Amino acid sequence: MAPWPLWRLRAPALVYVLLIQAVAFGLVVLVLSLNSPPTLEEWFRFAMLGGTAAAVIVATSVSIHLRSGIRRDPWTVHIAYLAAGGLALPPKLLFLLLLGPALHGVLEARPDPHRWLFVTAATTLAVFAGRGIVGWHDPEWNPLLVLLGGVALLLVRALVVAVGLRLREPAAAREDVFGDMFGEPIDVLLGIVAASFGGVLGMAMLREPTVAVLGGPVLALLDLAGQLPHWRRSAQRDGKTGLANALHWDRVARVELRRARSRQRGAVVLLLDLDHFKRVNDEVGHLAGDAVLAAVGVMLRDSVRKEDLVGRFGGEEFVVLLPNAYLEVAHAVAERVRLSTAALSVPTHDTLGAPRELGGLTVSIGVATTTRFGYELPDLLVAADAALLTAKASGRNAVMFA
Ligand code: GH3
Ligand code: MG
Ligand code: MG
Repeated sequence: MAPWPLWRLRAPALVYVLLIQAVAFGLVVLVLSLNSPPTLEEWFRFAMLGGTAAAVIVATSVSIHLRSGIRRDPWTVHIAYLAAGGLALPPKLLFLLLLGPALHGVLEARPDPHRWLFVTAATTLAVFAGRGIVGWHDPEWNPLLVLLGGVALLLVRALVVAVGLRLREPAAAREDVFGDMFGEPIDVLLGIVAASFGGVLGMAMLREPTVAVLGGPVLALLDLAGQLPHWRRSAQRDGKTGLANALHWDRVARVELRRARSRQRGAVVLLLDLDHFKRVNDEVGHLAGDAVLAAVGVMLRDSVRKEDLVGRFGGEEFVVLLPNAYLEVAHAVAERVRLSTAALSVPTHDTLGAPRELGGLTVSIGVATTTRFGYELPDLLVAADAALLTAKASGRNAVMFA
């Protein structure tokens, strides 16, 4: 995620962010100063709940994160144990539980600390809002209040963050903000399942703290289910090149362009089409053609920064979005890609199975910048496509600016 420096926020957003943080901070100070020290039994409940959640997160991290390198956010586990703690722990210890999601933010090494602080503040408000509803001192078993407390836990955080996004980017389309707030239906369902299970676990723990251990496997399952977005992401890749497929590229590119507009930064779209690619297929076969496409995919990824978005647009056409880039960068990147394509040597086999090094490839590139064509993706693509056609007409192996 691109940095989001505090001082660049518009005044209303800045006031709002500081206000939310101040309220959350005040709440924490109040909680820490007002309540009497937890009893031994309450400490035991805390240890059972926190210990179980920590063990689950460490175990799933080892099995998913470290082994396959998938970045993950155990947000379903956080919701579940915060909901359970909201019922089973006194406010002071409930505050300690908040260190869980906060620690995750630190470990994730978010690029901008104040964003992390804002999200942590939003989570704090949500947790204590839920607690306020079920009863500040001694939550009682009232199904309606427990239900409302769970709703508050889920909604307050989403609302606080959504309002922040809205203030930061007033131009953002309504559905974008709703998407940011709730995610997809499966995310909403997972959040509800996590909060419900947390409620049940919290109620059970009031009777018997050790029951937290029985909740462990469910938390682990919730954590895996929370990775659905990651699995979804793997469905967003193009099979032959490993790049973003056209649909996914389109979706992410729109988000990036929205960001670029709100931050008043430039962005660039490059549309690439390999020259005379049909000849490769005709002369050495479609499998060799596929090997070339894969090699071009790797070369493209290696030619741009991490935050640049490379996608397979169609057959032998590729598309790149460079956020935070202007004319000179666009020029440098396009030329680099053109030269790297010409330098490619792809080991493959011809139709008779004999090994063959394929080289002499060229590419034509059309480039469009937001400076000239604005931040609407279709406008940029149309412009880049027109420039690409000009590059083809001018004899190929060329970069053309729209
Ligand atoms: P130019 O773009 O320079 O005008 O010539 P071209 O030969 O590249 O023209 P065109 O875009 O019409 O042809 C694209 C070819 O790319 C046609 C198709 O056989 C090939 N192609 C598209 N997708 C794939 C694929 O997934 N694998 C392979 N091997 N070939 C593909
Ligand atoms: Mg083509
Ligand atoms: Mg072509």
